[in-house]
Amino acid sequence: MSLKHLKVVKRMFSTGENTPRVCIVGAGTAGFYAAMHLTKNLANVNVDLLEKLPVPFGLVRYGVAPDHPEVKNVINQFTKVAQHPNVKYYGNVTLGKDVSLTQLRQHYHAVLLAYGADEDRTLGIENEDAKNVIAARNFVGWYNGLPSDKDLKVDLSHSTAAILGQGNVALDVARILLSPIDELRKTDITEYALQTLAESKLKELYLIGRRGPLQVAFTIKELREQLKLKNCLTIWREKDFKGVEEIIPNLGRPRKRLTELMIKSLKENHKINEGDLSQKYFMPIFFRSPNRFLIDEQKQLTGVQLNCNKLMGDKPENQTCVPTEEVEVINCGLAFRSIGYKSIQVDNDLIFTPHGTVANDKGCVSVDNSTDLANLYVAGWLGTGPVGVILHTMGNAFHVAKLICEDLKSSNGLVNKGGFEEIKKALPSNNEIVNWNGWEKINKHEVQQGELKGKPREKLCSVKEMLEIAL
Ligand code: FAD
Repeated sequence: MSLKHLKVVKRMFSTGENTPRVCIVGAGTAGFYAAMHLTKNLANVNVDLLEKLPVPFGLVRYGVAPDHPEVKNVINQFTKVAQHPNVKYYGNVTLGKDVSLTQLRQHYHAVLLAYGADEDRTLGIENEDAKNVIAARNFVGWYNGLPSDKDLKVDLSHSTAAILGQGNVALDVARILLSPIDELRKTDITEYALQTLAESKLKELYLIGRRGPLQVAFTIKELREQLKLKNCLTIWREKDFKGVEEIIPNLGRPRKRLTELMIKSLKENHKINEGDLSQKYFMPIFFRSPNRFLIDEQKQLTGVQLNCNKLMGDKPENQTCVPTEEVEVINCGLAFRSIGYKSIQVDNDLIFTPHGTVANDKGCVSVDNSTDLANLYVAGWLGTGPVGVILHTMGNAFHVAKLICEDLKSSNGLVNKGGFEEIKKALPSNNEIVNWNGWEKINKHEVQQGELKGKPREKLCSVKEMLEIAL
């Protein structure tokens, strides 16, 4: 606990034995795991989960790829958390719009911000606003049914596309674009995305990275899936792998296995066969940074101009890339920017770091100690930055929840705080709050609609429809 936090906790004491009230903002991975830890470790705690959307689960519902249903099994754990008698879910309540941080801190003993990273990073290059330059984040939201992305225009009438970035999100996007449509039909991908993908003319997909094969950010599981796709060949550029094989023995285990897999695939030496119309091609290229998008008179994308880079530095993991004089053009009608997510400053009281996270010390957010407002904490991607998988987010959420428990336990009797009953009084009268029962109605409806199509669920993609069913 920080000194500042300690002072505030002391000021929250009173002689009475009041229920500790914790508000968690964001019902995604970090929010649920924090709530799980709190209810396991503080017998009488009341936890309120506030969520912007009517529906819970954040990126587990709207990020994780539809063909990764096993990853979504964490939803079963989250559901048990939400059904705990001391946990309440309030969907369709947005921090920064319906409620302010000051209000939350007035009516709770601790406030945990876990509202994730809802924006994408931009490249900042010429013509980035051209038609058919799409953020991978929006494309992911589109195929997963995120209400704000459901109307995205995805033009798959072009034969060539490029993904800028080489992380796991980039590989998710590639796999969804290149998977045989019948494989996707069995998943919870949205029906409109299925229809668009079924008519796709895409044949060649480039995956462009600024550094080399030894620095790729994707992991072996995702690459293996990509390499196994039916009707899709992976074509590497041999020149990108110069000297790579010799370095393999010096690499740490995960990087070694990943590099070995790339080399194995490279040696299979696939070639483009113009005659085979059903064949699709996945073409990773390295040492290239986009420096502008090329467009025609209608502002329609025609290609990406790339700077050719070379690596500087000794150790592969620390090497940085520097541009050379050379440029290269990839002709394509569609491009996806996949260079990461960033968090939004939803409340002016929050201090953000230059990296786009809430400034914090291991989860404690610095607070003004001249008032008796509750302590403030941050967990998940909002505090750590948009890195790591569910397991990492879980570890971080447990760590921050432990701090909250320690802070609350160190108080002998808390001043009385009203929690959500007080918040509700200040909400606009037309505010339609979705409780867990409301989500269960939506869930039931989605599963029923899915059954009709042989899918695990057909997601509702409009907030209005969600509210109609939930309320
Ligand atoms: P989120 O899960 O995004 O939760 C934040 C929640 O806050 C959301 O529900 C959001 O609606 C809500 N919110 C936002 N703003 C507000 C507001 N103002 N007021 C109230 N609520 C708000 N990990 C894996 O282990 N396996 C995978 O296959 C995998 N696939 C991924 C695919 C993609 C495309 C992405 C982006 C990530 C993937 N991850 C995967 C990583 C995993 O999703 C994250 O580690 C984790 O979900 C981050 O949790 P979080 O709680 O910080 O954010």
